[in-house]
Amino acid sequence: MKPDEFRKHAHELVEWMAGYMENAGNYPVKSQVKPGQIFSSIPDLPPGEPESFENLMKDFDSIIMPGITHWQSPNFFAYFPANNSPASVLAEMLISTLGVQGMIWETSPAATELEEKMMDWLKQMTGLPEEFEGVIQDSASTATLAAILTAREKIAGFMINEEGSVTNGQNLRVYCSDQTHSSVEKAVKIAGIGRKNLVKVLSRADLSFDPRGLKNAISEDISKGYTPCCVVATLGTTGTTAIDPIRELGEICHEHGIWLHVDAAMAGTALLLPEFSWMLDGKEYIDSFIFNPHKWMFVNFDCTAFFTRDAASLIRTFEILPEYLKTRTRGKVNDYRDWGVPLGRRFRALKLWSVIRTYGVKGLQEKVRYHIEIASRLKGLILAEPDFEIVAPVVISVVCFRYKPAGLAGEELNKINEKLNHTLNDSGKLYLTHTSVRGIYTLRMVTAQTNVTAEHVEKAWDLIKSTARSIAFK
Ligand code: PLP
Repeated sequence: MKPDEFRKHAHELVEWMAGYMENAGNYPVKSQVKPGQIFSSIPDLPPGEPESFENLMKDFDSIIMPGITHWQSPNFFAYFPANNSPASVLAEMLISTLGVQGMIWETSPAATELEEKMMDWLKQMTGLPEEFEGVIQDSASTATLAAILTAREKIAGFMINEEGSVTNGQNLRVYCSDQTHSSVEKAVKIAGIGRKNLVKVLSRADLSFDPRGLKNAISEDISKGYTPCCVVATLGTTGTTAIDPIRELGEICHEHGIWLHVDAAMAGTALLLPEFSWMLDGKEYIDSFIFNPHKWMFVNFDCTAFFTRDAASLIRTFEILPEYLKTRTRGKVNDYRDWGVPLGRRFRALKLWSVIRTYGVKGLQEKVRYHIEIASRLKGLILAEPDFEIVAPVVISVVCFRYKPAGLAGEELNKINEKLNHTLNDSGKLYLTHTSVRGIYTLRMVTAQTNVTAEHVEKAWDLIKSTARSIAFK
């Protein structure tokens, strides 16, 4: 494709992109295709001869678009969001045009230095400790893996990287609550610590990590000869956005020399608001911390902010220096390739820069605050209906509830809520997902999509009520 052809297609594409942004709410939110439908619509053999971009776009519209679930629809209330914003998409265009691979400072000093500055900005914006240093990782899962590997190496005197297992049968132990995201279990498996050495402490009534349970688990483990290595606390659990008590957990970690990692994948963005700074009470105990601007801070996927007070240990865990990566600037600059698993690194800092500058901290705060406010309003609407109930505390922008008509109980209630969830999602009018709260099938409504408004939430709530009541005793 010649530059002139590129220019023509790019202009057309920008028209398409702007149109999509205006109309994202008009598509069926959850893709309605059947398994295999898209695969079988694509030729089995790749084209031998070049094809026009027009043809590609035709197929994009007719084959691909029906298989898209519209995460950017304001009627997307599922999972946690993967929000984008115009500012982020524009930056992504620059990122892919430059095609920078910022593995080391020399392969694009601007990529490294903008990333350093953005991490500093985020640190200030969220109120994280001054001494933290930051790096952008691709996902919370990778970042948590990096934290657990660092904790493992630190406790083992950096010898597991060298020798393989050096714990003489005295297994390392990692602790989390029974509400912690599955990425922790995955990291423990990959780190060679072993799934059996992940201790999931029973959560408290509000679904937060129980410090007493942690204390007991650690004492018991020590008496059996295990070596406590890392505690993972969560700000905003995936199921219900429970907030773990950092100070109490941190004091226990401090007493035993255990690495404290905090996963704030979603709720970290709420730290932009001074009224949520209580979540970081005890921050002086945190060794590493992550949150995903690609969830709720309007930076399109992927962009995880990872911070640690012990960058030296992180780097020592990942550092490797083949001949071809030796540079004259080594030691004088930051080579981010040593800060995590991948060598190659996208220029993600540009998305953060674009989003933070175009919204301003104030604009981001207003948006996040509004999302929290409409969640609270939704909670009020639910509480006003006697045949619905709130299932977990509403802390940020996630409301957990269920339909509970008189005359039904136990598994019958679970079944009807599951049916309600599928019926709503099949309608294409909104998309909700569920969680299980102590055996209760619970609907989760996340009011945090970039363009969601109170009107979208009210309309969705009306549909939920009428659908529930129409399917109740069918
Ligand atoms: N941690 C929490 C609390 C999450 O909710 C999620 C995903 O929703 C993750 C980690 C994993 O995020 P990622 O997709 O960035 O790996």
